[in-house]
Amino acid sequence: MSNPSLPLHIELDHFAVDDDCIVIGGRKLTDIAESIGTPFYAYDSGVISQRVEQLKQALPANVHLHYALKANPMAEVAAHLAKLVDGFDVASAGELKIALAAGVPPDRISMAGPGKSDTDLRCAVEAKIIINLESELELDRVIQVGRQLGNKPRVAIRVNPDFELKTSGMKMGGGPQQFGIDAERVPELLRGLADLPVEFVGLHIFSGSQNLRAESICEAQEKTLQLATTLLEHAPTPARLLNIGGGLGIPYFPGDKRLDPTPIGSNLGKLLADHATALADTDIAVELGRHIVGEAGIYVTRVVDRKVSRGLTYLICDGGLHQHLSASGNFGQVIRKNYPVLVGNRVFAEPREVVSVVGPLCTPLDLLANKMSMAAAQVGDLIVVFQSGAYGLSASPIAFLGHPPPAEIFM
Ligand SMILES: *Cc1c(COP(=O)(O)O)cnc(C)c1O
Repeated sequence: MSNPSLPLHIELDHFAVDDDCIVIGGRKLTDIAESIGTPFYAYDSGVISQRVEQLKQALPANVHLHYALKANPMAEVAAHLAKLVDGFDVASAGELKIALAAGVPPDRISMAGPGKSDTDLRCAVEAKIIINLESELELDRVIQVGRQLGNKPRVAIRVNPDFELKTSGMKMGGGPQQFGIDAERVPELLRGLADLPVEFVGLHIFSGSQNLRAESICEAQEKTLQLATTLLEHAPTPARLLNIGGGLGIPYFPGDKRLDPTPIGSNLGKLLADHATALADTDIAVELGRHIVGEAGIYVTRVVDRKVSRGLTYLICDGGLHQHLSASGNFGQVIRKNYPVLVGNRVFAEPREVVSVVGPLCTPLDLLANKMSMAAAQVGDLIVVFQSGAYGLSASPIAFLGHPPPAEIFM
């Protein structure tokens, strides 16, 4: 039933169409909308499994695959992934709770993120997960918490590398950063760890996100391993874990091509062979969010009103920016571009028309599709925003204007 040619600006082959209606998890959108109402997010467990399988095939067998829970923290998604990946990366005590409830063993969880609260640190030390230190001061705070709890904290150093992942959607390394400890300060910090009441676990080096160029990712991985092995010469004990970040993106915008992880995996295999001696006792982990869950999710909203304003047709929907900030273009896009959007219950129908799809908020930023061509839609039709499995609901200002939250369904 797979459909290689949905009328979209990127190729999506994992959604079927039945009776001109998008099918997800074996159910037609119209049926789902009838049973749970609109708007809603729907996630397809099969697509998530497929992505993980593809990554495992591509990555060297000894490289661990971690899931960055912030991409999609829905409990069912977390529980599904807990069975498939080697570890979870969380960013708060709240996410830690979700990971533990999903069944991830604590020794496979690490917590990263600047500005960890006392509660975050206490929960992390108590659960004996790995804490990725974002500053020298955070190390002092972790030690204090460890003393209070009579527990030896397990720490890794998050390094702010002296390079960045080139051509990334989001740069998170190189230059000044609120993330991690500058690489040039790490040797001294590592040498000091021997005398401190913490267990040194390893390093975390994350250089960027949302990248669709294999060469850029390979280059960043090469620099990451080089930097890691140089820094680890100063470590009190061999690193048990080296988290080299991720950065693998998904196609969102016109012209974007899906990234094949195979060349990245084979290049990583060669790089690891080059560093085999230095990393003999070290597990290597890659951490990914959107590449695992992004393509598995859609956001569906119903057309409530339709009008023409000075020549432009607007479809006004019951969902919008408040539930899907990323698709509105206000979550890190510099120049707004459209996500892949179509009329879910009139996929191929004629006639086609150019419309702008907007939400119910009193702001022109509430735009889900700007002048896109799709089937002519009427009030009651369902608009689908694809590539919505990551940074959707949990990355949106749902309280804004007081509309009820969307439903979420995992199938
Ligand atoms: C956000 C984040 C990720 C996940 O990024 P994706 O683009 O979703 O893969 C991974 N690691 C860290 C440290 C992050 O902050």
